[in-house]
Amino acid sequence: MKDLAYYNGKISSIEDMRVPMLDRGCYFGDGVYDATFARNHIVWQLEEHVARLYRSADALGIGIPHTPEELCALIRRLVTQVNTGEQWVYFQVTRGTAPRNHAWGEMCHGNVWVMLRPTEMVDVYKKIKLITVPDTRFLHCDIKTINLIPSVMASQKAEMAGANEAVLHRDGRVTEGSHSNIHIIKDGVFRTAPTDNLILPGIARAHLITACRELGIPVNETPFTVDEMLNAKEVLISSSSAPGLRCVEIEGKPVGRQAPEVVAALQKWVRDEIFAETERD
Ligand code: PLP
Repeated sequence: MKDLAYYNGKISSIEDMRVPMLDRGCYFGDGVYDATFARNHIVWQLEEHVARLYRSADALGIGIPHTPEELCALIRRLVTQVNTGEQWVYFQVTRGTAPRNHAWGEMCHGNVWVMLRPTEMVDVYKKIKLITVPDTRFLHCDIKTINLIPSVMASQKAEMAGANEAVLHRDGRVTEGSHSNIHIIKDGVFRTAPTDNLILPGIARAHLITACRELGIPVNETPFTVDEMLNAKEVLISSSSAPGLRCVEIEGKPVGRQAPEVVAALQKWVRDEIFAETERD
């Protein structure tokens, strides 16, 4: 198949898939999701992403009708049915199907959605531009829900401004990007926001921290301000499909570019890890 959609056992192309209007995801955004990519039909860090999906679902009392192992096996099987090995791998579980009513009563079985689409892997050496936007999201950003309106608005604003990502900030503190985590290099230290309720604990973020530890780069997981970001030696963003991209401009003004050796070491580590783990014999 060219691409693939899965809904509670049904499989079709993405375009042909039809879902019930009464799926609570459609009218409440009542669901959780996760996303990663596949290379050579091997899904990158699938167990970590599935574990985060279960944490998000547990936080909202959404029941996933599979064990994590079954869900991993299902996704791995589906990925082999798409012709192209490089894929965007997206999965979500909505709370269930019922007439519109805020409370959900006894509902315990979620609806499982998977979308697989051919994609080009992002060039980790791509240099990117950012804008800054006040963070108007709710206070449970550690839960990966499909309610993404503030992030969607921020992302559109970035695109309209010719930028790649919007950096969200709350009370002066940089929280994260609209769909990424933000990091800075300052005084030789890799600084990244703590994994509290204001950010998503990114899987690429965790891998960058491992990279720092292996490369002997000190890590500081405390909040930093927009000013600190603007004056940092380097600014990086990470997500599973774009792990460790270097930012060179924020709001049209140059930033970073003052610790190229640290960035090069981190990017090489990340690229080597991805390539080693998604290589076929
Ligand atoms: N923060 C937000 C708000 C995101 O949407 C994402 C990715 O979707 C990330 C951070 C990065 O997470 P990960 O590295 O697990 O892809």
